[in-house]
Amino acid sequence: MADIKEIFECTQCGYCCHGETTVSLDEKDQKRMVEALGLSEAEVREKYWRVTGNVVQMKIIDGHCIFYDNGCTVHKGRPWRCAQWPMHPSMIADKNNYKTISESCPGINTEISYEEFCRIFKELIDEQTIIHC
Ligand code: SF4
Ligand code: SF4
Repeated sequence: MADIKEIFECTQCGYCCHGETTVSLDEKDQKRMVEALGLSEAEVREKYWRVTGNVVQMKIIDGHCIFYDNGCTVHKGRPWRCAQWPMHPSMIADKNNYKTISESCPGINTEISYEEFCRIFKELIDEQTIIHC
């Protein structure tokens, strides 16, 4: 059985939680986050979300996601895109995606070849391993 640690291990550098914008939350994400925080949706919306039309994102404070504090403080309620990052299957389809992602995420094991990386990643997908980072 493949082991995700062969291709990725989070260094907790926090890079993916920094920036001027965050991932967007779909309806399931919103529900999960509200439940995880134990607040009403209105409170979560007011305190933590930036809502632009139909797009719901997390607020940014001091250049990082409002939930970032030396790690994710809403881990169980984080959006699926955060949970998936950086193990995006598009890296298998296109080496450029692998390059871009591995350049911004130090947790990707770049000691092994791209081909080996893809082989292990595909194995994990075939085994239907839920890759949650
Ligand atoms: S997923 Fe990558 S970029 Fe994000 S904290 Fe972990 S190592 Fe850093
Ligand atoms: S929800 Fe958590 S993992 Fe996602 S950007 Fe915010 S702090 Fe990072």
